[in-house]
Amino acid sequence: MAAPYLEPAPLLEVRDLRVAIGARALVDGVSLEVSAGEVVGLVGPNGAGKSTLMRAATGGRAGTGEIRVHGRALASYAKRDLFRILAVVQQLPEAPATMTVRDLVLLGRFPHLGLLGRESARDLAVVEASIVRAGCEAFADRTLGTLSGGERRRAFIARALAQEPRLLLLDEPTANLDAEAHAEILALLRRLAGESVGVLVVLHDLSYAAAYCDRMVLMHEGRLVVEGPPARVVTAEHIGAVYGRHVRVLPHPEGGAPLVVPAL
Ligand code: ADP
Ligand code: MG
Repeated sequence: MAAPYLEPAPLLEVRDLRVAIGARALVDGVSLEVSAGEVVGLVGPNGAGKSTLMRAATGGRAGTGEIRVHGRALASYAKRDLFRILAVVQQLPEAPATMTVRDLVLLGRFPHLGLLGRESARDLAVVEASIVRAGCEAFADRTLGTLSGGERRRAFIARALAQEPRLLLLDEPTANLDAEAHAEILALLRRLAGESVGVLVVLHDLSYAAAYCDRMVLMHEGRLVVEGPPARVVTAEHIGAVYGRHVRVLPHPEGGAPLVVPAL
């Protein structure tokens, strides 16, 4: 008899997550899932709890509720095993200013190295490919301290790619980027999803999020307001309720994805 078809477990499952400081909940009962091959956009105003959720989902912050990565409780993973599956690009990542981009990206191979910690020819090839994919070739030999904000962002994305993750979490990877760089990073995330990576990305710009994400999760004051396809999330009603009445939602002239524009 053929084995029954089993729906693969989502790569990330967050159930009823609550993160509090004293009596104040920063994240209050949020549940979400990310599956292979999808880009999920996490949006909401400043202070909504997006970064807190991202940190909790990777073990960087304690909370209550359940977090499962690739079907297993997050807490049951050894760090090395976890970071072969999951890569994170933090909102304000830190690394020594004197480190070169190439050395930073090589750190992404760390969870894959053998016991002696020596990198193989394949590790070095993955590093070079990650540098190219993230668009860092032109400054791969420079130190982090000499980079612009956008270059620095790409360097940390390259490090995450070098981990060859199945699940990629990025916190505002497009903040302060010009329009072309913004679109390039989102296009890269779509290509990764096309290779079955699951992507959870915090985005500031609702129109870009609606254009590039398969699903969106809107948070406000620690709570999940609505989640679903962009057209369900980015409506005048939801956006008005969360961001105030100073915006309009219009259909994009190409394809109809929701566009958020200032009210006149
Ligand atoms: P977002 O990323 O959506 O802008 P954050 O998750 O960074 O929001 O923050 C959510 C709320 O939690 C904010 O009001 C922030 O000031 C507060 N917060 C985050 N970290 C701390 C902390 N360590 N101590 C006190 N308040 C915090
Ligand atoms: Mg944040």
